[in-house]
Amino acid sequence: MTGRREWLIRSGLALAAGLLVARASARDEAAERRRLLREIESDMRRTESYTGRARLAPCVAAALGRVERHRFVPAEVAAYAYENRPLPIGHGQTISQPFIVALMTELLDPKPEHVVLEVGTGSGYQAAVLAECVRKVYTIEIVAALGERARATLAALGYRNVEVRIGDGYLGWPEAAPFDGIVVTAAPEHVPQPLLDQLKPGGRMVIPVGAQVGGQDLLLITREADGRTITRRKLPVRFVPLTREPR
Ligand code: SAH
Repeated sequence: MTGRREWLIRSGLALAAGLLVARASARDEAAERRRLLREIESDMRRTESYTGRARLAPCVAAALGRVERHRFVPAEVAAYAYENRPLPIGHGQTISQPFIVALMTELLDPKPEHVVLEVGTGSGYQAAVLAECVRKVYTIEIVAALGERARATLAALGYRNVEVRIGDGYLGWPEAAPFDGIVVTAAPEHVPQPLLDQLKPGGRMVIPVGAQVGGQDLLLITREADGRTITRRKLPVRFVPLTREPR
């Protein structure tokens, strides 16, 4: 009887300690995200002469403070989730540096009523950041295993406004087009025409374009009300290549 009571007390204590540790680490992660956000905000100020943006819109900053990047990366690198750098996510792919995710989201000028397309789902993190700021995110990933994992992560975190498709994002998502925004997180050598065709008048596309050797330029392409497009070069960047064959 005593043994049983002791066991109950001991397991009760262990449970309480476990809960405390879990709460403490959740608190630490929120604090780590706030620290990372300050770093990103300082990167924004530092790169203003290239990007034309010194700060993040409130929604973008709030999204970076909220989305749990550590849930999107493999366990082996989760400890580094709140460092301002890209991380491997398997299959030779990477989750972009948080500053780049922030900048790309910012350049899209996301609004609550927007419908956006992402090409290159990867871990799903960029899609989650977007989903915090817009009505609907369509995202396409060419590596099936990554797309499926991202879909599961996004569902587990309760994102109901993100749809993941496995396929070649070069072709866009014609059934859901046209889009207010298109963000491409893998680098093609030229801007895919299907994506240009799926951009609304007034819409914005953020895309890294260039050869793999020597890096790429992050471009902001806007479609004017009269249908013309204007391309602005924002920042030298380095992305994994946009590939064409579904694997
Ligand atoms: N946005 C991602 C980072 C992705 S890295 C994140 O937040 O984690 C770029 C991704 O683009 C890789 O997962 C790669 O497999 C994918 N990709 C490359 N070519 C593609 C294509 N043609 N269509 C869709 N996805 C592609």
